[in-house]
Amino acid sequence: MTPKILLSFDVEEFDMPLEYNFNISLETQMEIGKKGLDNLMPILNDKNYTTTLFTTANFANHFPDIIKTLSDKHEIASHTFFHSNYTTAHLLSSRLKLSEIIEKPITGLRMPRMRQVPMKDIQEAGYQYDASMHPTWLPGRYNNFNKPRTLYKEEEMIRVPASVSPNFRIPLFWLSFKNFPYALYLSLALQTLRKDGYLSLYFHPWEFTNINAYGLPKYTTKGSDNELLDKLYRLLNDLKKQAEFITMADFIENRNME
Ligand SMILES: [Zn+2]
Repeated sequence: MTPKILLSFDVEEFDMPLEYNFNISLETQMEIGKKGLDNLMPILNDKNYTTTLFTTANFANHFPDIIKTLSDKHEIASHTFFHSNYTTAHLLSSRLKLSEIIEKPITGLRMPRMRQVPMKDIQEAGYQYDASMHPTWLPGRYNNFNKPRTLYKEEEMIRVPASVSPNFRIPLFWLSFKNFPYALYLSLALQTLRKDGYLSLYFHPWEFTNINAYGLPKYTTKGSDNELLDKLYRLLNDLKKQAEFITMADFIENRNME
């Protein structure tokens, strides 16, 4: 079988400066999220790249037409209602709101900041899968070294972890992509793709805008604007020679039919 790439973007308001006590208005958060999405349009409109867009209902409420149009080619999934505040009720309300906007069912969830919530809550809110697991150790954030590295079931919920390398579980997420030399990142990604038969990678549209003015540490803003976008083009171009890009929902469905 052709190896698969599950490329996803967390399409959201750019609230990260708040984590660093830098004040940013909701209007600016939305503007930067939207700018990033605009910058990614050549990729999102490229026939080779089908992706999963985990979107906050808040962001989708601001730009409903764009999200609806994107849903023709990409999977829209939930990134809850608001990036900065969460109650269990937002699992259901975000799913319903997004579904209303795109006029299609929403089956997937990724929690902001990979927060862990009970599987029962996710199930009761009507989701088929959860993509909020990063099976590695991030100092000061989480330690998931004991969790499965590839797709698994937890209390009837299908979980699609973000990819980490088979050896040492080196994360292949957005911070690695911008901070590792390209050749190292690509080699880890291909190693993982060969071993697992698929890769689950995630980024955020706002990374691909200039975010140097918001009090963030350098390791989170490195290459922001065009340099990082060029690096992403290069990665996708290298990956498409070896694998096919599909949505998470399709990936799960194909697996179930095997
Ligand atoms: Zn997010």
